[in-house]
Amino acid sequence: MATKKLFWDDPYLTQCKAKVTSINGNKVKLDQTIFYAFSGGQLPDEGTINNIKVMEANKEGDKEDIIDIEYTLESTPNFKVGDQVTVQIDPIRRDKLRRLHSAAHIVYYITQQILGKVKINGSEVQPEKSRMDFCYDEPIAEKIPLIEQATNKFLAENHSIIIITDENKPNLKWWTCQTWKMPCGGTHVKNTSEIGPLTLKRVNKGKGRERIEIYLITN
Ligand SMILES: [Zn+2]
Repeated sequence: MATKKLFWDDPYLTQCKAKVTSINGNKVKLDQTIFYAFSGGQLPDEGTINNIKVMEANKEGDKEDIIDIEYTLESTPNFKVGDQVTVQIDPIRRDKLRRLHSAAHIVYYITQQILGKVKINGSEVQPEKSRMDFCYDEPIAEKIPLIEQATNKFLAENHSIIIITDENKPNLKWWTCQTWKMPCGGTHVKNTSEIGPLTLKRVNKGKGRERIEIYLITN
């Protein structure tokens, strides 16, 4: 049985009950979870299972079809297979990851509106910032304020963000906002107004290689 991902049904949950389905040393699996594992560039949550700190959260399965999540605990589990446990995650970290992940998708689309098609070759969502790496032949320093302005205008327009489950693959989720749609299994806000205004920073990674870093302004 695959781990049921409650973080897809409700990315705002910060505590849940779950049944232990497997224990291997300090590694455990649950029937359901709110605790996100590293996937699609989004860093994992931090938190506990029955008050024991989770050191690692790893997904099993391919990128778009996460089957199971395995948690490595800091110490030997104080529970056995079949027991009910309490899963708790850091709500502030989750809040920032949720906002910065949705923000990263929007910055990606607005960047393309302003620069034209760009080829993405990396991205990461951390609680402090998210980033997007891409190739672009011309200098983009002057374009950053334009991208920032257009992004902040869009965010303030209170657009809904809707996650759709793929018709054929139940573990494949689509992030959608207005006319934009991309496959993504991350945790997201429901409305762009939750993100608040952003600051964008350009990092030049060498000739033709650009990085845009995204920072939240409000807590
Ligand atoms: Zn995503």
